[in-house]
Amino acid sequence: MTKLGIVGAGQLGRMMALAGYPLGLEFLFLDRDARTPGGQVAPIVTGELSDRKLLGQLADRCDVVTFDWENIPVEALENLPGKARIAPPLRALAAAQDRLSEKRTFELLGIPTTHHAVVDSRAALDTAVKTVGLPGVLKTRRLGYDGKGQQVLRKPADLDVAWAALGNAPLLYENLVPFDREVSIIAVRGLDGEIAFYPLNLNVHRDGILRLTRAPFVNAALTRQAQRAARRLLEHFNYVGVLTIEFFVARGKLVANEMAPRVHNSGHWTIEGADTSQFENHVRAISGLPLGSTRARGYSAMINLIGELPARDPLLAEPGLHWHDYGKTARPGRKLGHITLVEGSAALRDRRAFKVLGRVDRATWLAIR
Ligand code: AMP
Repeated sequence: MTKLGIVGAGQLGRMMALAGYPLGLEFLFLDRDARTPGGQVAPIVTGELSDRKLLGQLADRCDVVTFDWENIPVEALENLPGKARIAPPLRALAAAQDRLSEKRTFELLGIPTTHHAVVDSRAALDTAVKTVGLPGVLKTRRLGYDGKGQQVLRKPADLDVAWAALGNAPLLYENLVPFDREVSIIAVRGLDGEIAFYPLNLNVHRDGILRLTRAPFVNAALTRQAQRAARRLLEHFNYVGVLTIEFFVARGKLVANEMAPRVHNSGHWTIEGADTSQFENHVRAISGLPLGSTRARGYSAMINLIGELPARDPLLAEPGLHWHDYGKTARPGRKLGHITLVEGSAALRDRRAFKVLGRVDRATWLAIR
C-alpha cells in the first residue's frame, strides 16, 4: 500500500488525507502538535517541521513525501535518507518561498507579473519607489501569507512607516495593481507528465485573506492565459502534484501575483464542485496514479470561515450546504473552516452565496454587495 508522508498537518494536509483514504492510500503527518487538523485524522510524528531526523523518519516510513505548507527550509529536505520520492519538487518549493525568485521565475518564463524592486535598506526603498512608483506594496520576501508582512504605500510619508514595520527583513516593493478582479488557476501534473487544469476561480480577498471563491469563472481569453502560465511552470519544474497561481486581472490581462506549490484555498470548492477534488488529484499525481477529471459539476461558491465559526446547525438546515470544520481553536484571522454551495446556474449560486456570506461574513458582504 502506498504511504504518503505530509510535512505540516494543517487543514490542507487533513483534506489530502480525507481524499486519499478512499483510494487505499495511507498517511503519516509531521507537525508540532498531535491536535492539528491532520493529526485528528491520521497518525502523526510530532516535532519541528525542519527537524532532519524526523524528516528522515518520514522519508523512511513513506513512499512519497509532500507538504501542506511551502515554507519548510529546503536544506532540511535535501538528500533525505530513506526511499521516499519528494513531490512537488524542491526547486518549485524554493522558488515559491522567496517573492523575488518567484517573480524571477515568472519573468524567465514570460509570465506577466508586477513591476518590482528588491529592498534591502532604507535607501533602497527610496530607489525602489522612484523606479516602480506610488502607490505600491512593500512585502517581506519570505514567510508572508494572508496579507501578513505587507504595507501599502500611497504617499512619500508612508515610506518611513512601512520601513519601521518591515525593515528588519529582506523586502520586495511592487506596484499596487489597480485590478478589476482576482482569479487563480489550479493545475495538476502527474508523474508521467500528464497535465490537467481546473476552471478559473474568481476570488475575493479582504485584509489580504481569501473570503469568497466562485468557480468556474468563465472567460476563454483569461483561461488561455492562465493555462499557458501554469503549463510553463509545471514543465519548467518537471512538476508533480497540484500547483496554484494567483493573478490580478487588469485591463483584460492577467498579472501573476504569486504561486503556491500545493493545493490551495481557492480550490476547496472542488471537493463537492468538481469530478475529482484538488486534494484527490494531488495525492493521485504524487502516488503515480492516473489523474481524475477536473470538470466542474455546476457552479460553486466557497466561503471561508475566519476567526470564529458561526452557529453550525442553522446553516446545515440550508439545502445542499456543505460544512467543513478543520478542528482548530478559534483565533482572530485564523481559517477555521469553509462552506461550499454547488448550484445549477451561476445566478442561483450567486444569490445563495451572497445570502450565506451576509450571515457569516458581514464585512465582506458589505464590501462587495
Ligand atoms: P499576497 O499575500 O501577495 O497574495 O497578497 C494578498 C492580497 O493582497 C492579494 O490577493 C491582493 O488582494 C492584495 N495585494 C497584494 N499585492 C498586491 C498588489 N501588488 N496590487 C494589488 N493588490 C495586492
